[in-house]
Amino acid sequence: MNILIINAGSSSLKYQLMDPDTGVVSAKGLCERIGIDGRLNHNANGKKVVKDIPMPTHSEAIAATLDILVDAVDGVIKSTDEIDAVGHRVLHGGMEFFDSCIIDDEVIAAIEKCIPLGPLHNPANLMGIRACQAVMPTTPQVAVFDTAFHMTMPPKAYRYAIPTEYFKNDSIRRYGFHGTSHKYVAKRTAELVGKTEFKMVNCHLGNGSSMSAVLNGKCQDTTMGLTPLAGVPMGTRSGDIDAAVVQFICNKYGMSVDECLNMLNKKSGVLALSGNVSSDFRDLGNGAAEGNEECQLALDKFAYEVAKYVGAYAAALKGIDVLTFTAGVGENDGATRAAICDYLGFLGVKLDPELNAQRGEHKISAEDSKVQVWVVPTNEELMIAQDTAELVKAAK
Ligand code: ADP
Repeated sequence: MNILIINAGSSSLKYQLMDPDTGVVSAKGLCERIGIDGRLNHNANGKKVVKDIPMPTHSEAIAATLDILVDAVDGVIKSTDEIDAVGHRVLHGGMEFFDSCIIDDEVIAAIEKCIPLGPLHNPANLMGIRACQAVMPTTPQVAVFDTAFHMTMPPKAYRYAIPTEYFKNDSIRRYGFHGTSHKYVAKRTAELVGKTEFKMVNCHLGNGSSMSAVLNGKCQDTTMGLTPLAGVPMGTRSGDIDAAVVQFICNKYGMSVDECLNMLNKKSGVLALSGNVSSDFRDLGNGAAEGNEECQLALDKFAYEVAKYVGAYAAALKGIDVLTFTAGVGENDGATRAAICDYLGFLGVKLDPELNAQRGEHKISAEDSKVQVWVVPTNEELMIAQDTAELVKAAK
């Protein structure tokens, strides 16, 4: 089976052609500068191709993607008929979507309804969907939502303690993001530990970071909120802060709320704490090793806040059996994993330092650790491909 995975942004469109059964990616690429001029970056057959192609809209980007996939030299399929289905990454499913689904007019209307919650991403995701429908009208299209995995949270986890009218009228609540990654890791971890009933905390630590508390494969709580700004500090996002900080800064510096939120999203996090050295944990590690105290503070604060949430989620789940790390930092930064786990001995977490220094999918806890700790490299594209294949097969 061939699934085309599409992740459409406002001026870009990423694609992958994947076999959902093997996870093998036969081609992937990026259309960028959509609406400006247009450039296609294509990787297939061990070769990179860059082509300037006019892309006034997402439709031309999709057309260029399909053209290169069937290209006699750089392509990997003979005809677009070999694409069995398209899986679209959609940011915000609001309270409309609890799972991935086959796209029809009703689904499109519901994604539109969620635009106020995802004002930057949902319109771009819709452009990607409509462009695909236009050029491949008979190929099934599936929407996979970044929020859906978290929809099993109970009200005590997702409701904010603010007047009910904002929830009832405006759907303001905790949604959470990175859901496709959390879902993949939860599913994969069940395979790795050989059971389906267990209490797990997953740490998706990358440039954007979020954590989830998962009971028997179902999300019970997550750190991001109405938007991805909440939770642990991130590369450039502040994570949780007292909301009154916004009022204080806006009043004192004459900033608008939008400007202040831009600062909290793009100029904060470990970047800010490091004295603007970097948002990249490799640079922070190097800086700290050279004696830069601000880099060390950034790393310390990050590990501290992640560890605090593990403790909070162990309480929420009334226990913890498995702790998992994923994404750029979680998969690659053994020092940060060790710094986080250093707080968690009281829960029975004990790392094996040698295993923690190794790469790839593996257990990193010591034999006598009460909690299994694993590194599980995430694969959001595989999750999208699998969801898409499953839905399309079931509909036949
Ligand atoms: P995104 O949230 O953009 O998907 P990723 O999950 O790809 O981010 O994570 C990117 C981040 O992972 C980088 O900014 C960097 O901080 C971190 N990272 C990647 N490789 C390493 C490494 N070897 N050691 C420490 N940190 C790393």
